[in-house]
Amino acid sequence: MFDLTNKNVIVTGATKGIGYGIAAVFATAGANVAVAARSLHDLDTAVAGLDGLGSGKVIGVSVDVADPRSCQAMAAAAVDAFGGIDVLCANAGIFPEAPLATMTPDDLATVLDVNVKGTVYSVQACLDALTRSGAGRVILTSSITGPVTGFPGWSHYGASKAAQLGFMRTAAIELAPKRITVNAILPGNILTEGLQEMGEDYIAGMARSIPAGTLGTPEDIGHLAAFLASDEARYLTGQSIVVDGGQILPESLDALAG
Ligand code: NAP
Repeated sequence: MFDLTNKNVIVTGATKGIGYGIAAVFATAGANVAVAARSLHDLDTAVAGLDGLGSGKVIGVSVDVADPRSCQAMAAAAVDAFGGIDVLCANAGIFPEAPLATMTPDDLATVLDVNVKGTVYSVQACLDALTRSGAGRVILTSSITGPVTGFPGWSHYGASKAAQLGFMRTAAIELAPKRITVNAILPGNILTEGLQEMGEDYIAGMARSIPAGTLGTPEDIGHLAAFLASDEARYLTGQSIVVDGGQILPESLDALAG
């Protein structure tokens, strides 16, 4: 475990799923963690669950990442509570199904607003504080879906997750002189509450497509985020790292048979 004591961290979309796993790993490693999402009720529950895991503070901050002013208020709240921001985990994302034949302009706009614009607004809002940090870190949660793979019904989502990587590469160049690194994690199928609700048969079917034979956990993503946030990762920027138990590797079903 990397020692993240005294690191001030914002994790967007941290009330559930992968974001909560990232927040739990950071809190356990001693960081001060701002848990950010829209639902106030879920924020209270998440803060109660994370409080006391480590030596740092945990606060809840209400944010809609699709709204730039809301992102500015999120960054201000973290600076007020902790004195600064060292790490932004821009993780909030949505994945409503919309087959191409029936996708509406609203379907497309909503996914791009949250997943793409929300990423950019979150980074912009934290930029001054990350610069003051002197060792700022931006960690994006992208996906294998879009940058590497596809899944029918999620073309707009795949486009949004690939767009995050295009943003990342230029942001990494622009922010390198400020000693800020920008990297992306590409999770495969991660066992979140949402997936658990799909039932055991569904999960078992997914697990069969993964060489590791099992889905990942939110903490698997959190551990990579902790490394990317650490002092040891200072020279790593503009990279996308797949965490998927080998899911993208098989060339065919036969490759999994043995
Ligand atoms: P999740 O369980 O549905 O949680 C989504 C989180 O984002 C919640 O905290 C939600 O809280 C928040 N959120 C949604 N819209 C928001 C908005 N406009 N502003 C602020 N917060 C918002 O999702 P997840 O499965 O953990 O996915 C998290 C990230 O991982 C996403 O970027 C997703 O694309 C990526 N990912 C997931 C998987 C997977 O297998 N689960 C795989 C690859 C990539 P509120 O609704 O209260 O705002």
